[in-house]
Amino acid sequence: MSGQVAQVAVAAPLHSLFDYLIPDGMSAVVGGRVQVPFGRSQLVGVVVATGGASALAPHRLKPLHTVLDSEPLFAGADLEFLAWVAAYYHYPIGEVVAAALPARLRRALPVLPAGEPGWRLTGKGRAQLADPPPRAPRQAALLRWFAGRPGGIATRDALRSAPHSSDTTRALRDKGWIEAVSVEQPVAGPTTSAARHTLNGEQAAIVAAVSADLGRFSVTLADGVTGSGKTEVYLELAATVIRRGASVLVLVPEISLTPQLLRRFHRRLGDTVCVTHSGLAEKPRELAWQRMRRGAARVMLGTRSSVFTPIADLGLIIVDEEHDPSFKQTEGLRYSARDLAVVRAQRANCPLVLGSATPSLESLRNAEAGRYRHMRLERRAGGARSPRIDLLDLRDQPLHCGVSEPLLERVATTLQRGEQVILFLNRRGFAPVLSCFSCGWLSDCPRCDARQTVHQATGQLWCHHCGAQRPVPRTCPECGANDLHPLGQGTERLEGFLAKRFAGYPLIRLDRDATARKGSLEQQLQRLHDAEAALLVGTQMLAKGHHFPRVTLVGVLDIDGGLYSADFRSTERLAQLLVQVAGRAGRGERAGRVLIQTRFPDHPLLQTLVRHGYPAFAHQALAERRASQLPPYSHQAMLRAEAPHIEQARSLLDEIAEWARSHAVDGVEIWGPVPAPMTRRAGLHRVHLLFQAAQRDALHRMLDPLPAYLSRLPAARRARWSLDVDPIDLY
Ligand code: ADP
Ligand code: ZN
Ligand code: ZN
Repeated sequence: MSGQVAQVAVAAPLHSLFDYLIPDGMSAVVGGRVQVPFGRSQLVGVVVATGGASALAPHRLKPLHTVLDSEPLFAGADLEFLAWVAAYYHYPIGEVVAAALPARLRRALPVLPAGEPGWRLTGKGRAQLADPPPRAPRQAALLRWFAGRPGGIATRDALRSAPHSSDTTRALRDKGWIEAVSVEQPVAGPTTSAARHTLNGEQAAIVAAVSADLGRFSVTLADGVTGSGKTEVYLELAATVIRRGASVLVLVPEISLTPQLLRRFHRRLGDTVCVTHSGLAEKPRELAWQRMRRGAARVMLGTRSSVFTPIADLGLIIVDEEHDPSFKQTEGLRYSARDLAVVRAQRANCPLVLGSATPSLESLRNAEAGRYRHMRLERRAGGARSPRIDLLDLRDQPLHCGVSEPLLERVATTLQRGEQVILFLNRRGFAPVLSCFSCGWLSDCPRCDARQTVHQATGQLWCHHCGAQRPVPRTCPECGANDLHPLGQGTERLEGFLAKRFAGYPLIRLDRDATARKGSLEQQLQRLHDAEAALLVGTQMLAKGHHFPRVTLVGVLDIDGGLYSADFRSTERLAQLLVQVAGRAGRGERAGRVLIQTRFPDHPLLQTLVRHGYPAFAHQALAERRASQLPPYSHQAMLRAEAPHIEQARSLLDEIAEWARSHAVDGVEIWGPVPAPMTRRAGLHRVHLLFQAAQRDALHRMLDPLPAYLSRLPAARRARWSLDVDPIDLY
């Protein structure tokens, strides 16, 4: 053995790196993967450093098993970023590194060859050039043709442009004159002005400000109403960065929901764009990752996990819809891709653009404190006007399947004018609960403190929290009476009602059930695009960046629950959702109208929102947060424990709370432990302990020793625990 040691981040729930001996003849590269013996198995890890020394005596070190990569997957700066992430979220470094790898590479598989299958002249073929086969002129010609392409050529291009057929190609291969290689496609850069608008003044100002920052860190909050041309700004900036030979990372909430956005990027920026999201198979995901890493693609459009992609020459990061909760991972490594984008841009010395029509209070606070540049887009681009929003008082109104008479009348007149209507109901399924009118039985989930939703299409009662399903009973499971009734409505029931009431008009439902099949969302959007008058019913999926030019009326059905929720973030969420849904109306030539049904028309949130808009609402909400010292004016971390019996979870957190109080850090408050609002979920009882501090570093001083201390506690063997830094909900 050479005595060389590799420090490896092993994908195991432990907070340290592990040292291994590098056997003679093996060369481990920093940033590349290795397979190492770990306990009784072999695990994949990434080499973080190599050197001659270890804190352990040499005879206690095990040798590496295999070197999986001969070239690094992560550059030094990438590894430093991942180490920062592990420290900030108090999460095992090996698991952070694993999260940054595409799924295929977490296993001991070789990296996929770059590029696509093609052919290249061999040394033998080159020698043959001087002595071409006299009786095979076609082969000779093809040989010369390949000689003119020393980098190789993709098979599909060879088939299109080579002077001779695939038979001749095969003959050359059989003689060993050409060989199969994988060929990196040259990427086509941004296309011409085809799909381009002349930017208006507000758009141009953002492009100019961010362009001037290329090469150094800055954060710009692009606060622009829906339809104000933010996407157009992203495209212009991306094209500028590509022209300078650098790369762009664009984070979006849920790509599969926004095919239109994808098309715009492809149309404008060509083959330099690659896409990644959880709906893609493992191989294309890895290929996209590799192309960005090597600079073979210049724009990555991806969901939250793409914030970890190693990128050659990162020149700009964009986070679209930065307020969207889906940027936060809510299990395992509980990171916020939006927050990590800030850290990444800072480390890469590049600008970051956070875009939204409804910026998060966190980002608005950062802008207010002067850390972000706040730029507004106040008008809709292309001349469309902003929609008018009104409240519709539901008190004393008879409802038909949850829809009031005045709203139904408006729907009818809108359809008659040949325009489209959206009805927004943020609840999928047929009805939220099934009830027995004889004995009062309710469809409680057997495993959660929640009700099972009636799904008529599948004939199931279905819990949306844990997934538990059972067939809808015919008679009451409790008393046997034939007196079961679905209460309330979900999108499925509303769809059935509207189909009868507005028969003859195309009716489209957008929710997770209706679009579960691959391609069905695209299909539905196409139907809407092709139709004149039409009705669209859906959940918050509707609010996600779609562009429906013919929609002129948006009806918002059932939002009152969000006005009086226990979570301090629920009003912010509701305001964002309402403004986003409202933003779907009147994006074309005709002005839009939004009607919000409510039993609480005097509610201050609704009043502020309707009369003065989102900025006024946000201003007021920030003042409330400041007065109660809630985030973003303080920082939180939530320790959650769950166990089959509540006492097991509780006693673990009791011990932690006691320890934390005896190791008090100045300025850190400790609340709890308390049972979670939904105490039982998926058969486990959940308990919370909350840490809060005005200063981030005080909070982290408190948290630093916590995971190590926790894992030593006997009580930790009887309950599962997780630490959530900057939690976005308290459930
Ligand atoms: P956002 O991303 O803010 O919702 P988009 O970039 O999608 O806005 O723009 C909304 C609509 O306005 C799109 O149809 C887009 O093509 C058009 N648009 C954007 N910028 C301009 C412009 N400068 N001139 C004319 N039309 C524009
Ligand atoms: Zn009953
Ligand atoms: Zn359940």
